[in-house]
Amino acid sequence: MAAPGFEALLKTQELDTRLAQLEHARTHHPLLQKIAAARGHALEVAARVQDEREERHSLERDQKRLDDEVAMLDAKRAVIETRLYDGSVTATKDLLAMQEESKHLAERKNALEDSELEIMERVEALQAVLDTAQAEIDGDDELIAQCENELAEELATLDSESSVVETERAAIVAELPSDLVDAYEELRLTQGGVVVARLVAGACQACHLNLSAMRVDQIGKLDDEVLVHCDQCGAILVR
Ligand SMILES: [Zn+2]
Repeated sequence: MAAPGFEALLKTQELDTRLAQLEHARTHHPLLQKIAAARGHALEVAARVQDEREERHSLERDQKRLDDEVAMLDAKRAVIETRLYDGSVTATKDLLAMQEESKHLAERKNALEDSELEIMERVEALQAVLDTAQAEIDGDDELIAQCENELAEELATLDSESSVVETERAAIVAELPSDLVDAYEELRLTQGGVVVARLVAGACQACHLNLSAMRVDQIGKLDDEVLVHCDQCGAILVR
């Protein structure tokens, strides 16, 4: 039977391994991958319709320009129409010229309005493509939100398990001789992984290598409280 301190150290190692597993479960949660995939997909969809989005912006600018031009033509024509009928112009030649100008402005307006109609049709077609893409992106966003909620719950569960384990570990470590704890912590820092192991039938259970018969014999004669390390991996041996 090993000295109680070493048994407690084995238990500490077990708890630390569990804490490492919990940390790994937190940082490598499958939902993180699912969220990243959905984010990637949403970005991909947005990039796919980038040309359509730019074309729509450009057409909207054209439409605005045509609107302004039509408004300007209307204003010009209104001035002419007023002067035509308010009696301020009497010479027939001038009146005919003004009528001609008004007609010309009306024709120009019609042409602009035809162009606007074409633009509106194109914008409508582009909008349909953009709406479909947006629906895909909305679907991704919904999935992301759902996964994030699930993840938050699962992380909270992992966190609470971690704090239970940490409490148990702290209680065990508080009872351990400080030189043993220091040796353990230093090994964990410098080599990590399993740094306390049983010596079973001459084999270290950390590296699974056999110690020499002479070394096993020598260890057997030592007091239970003496700190012994594995010759191969340096683990603290519990015997
Ligand atoms: Zn070893």
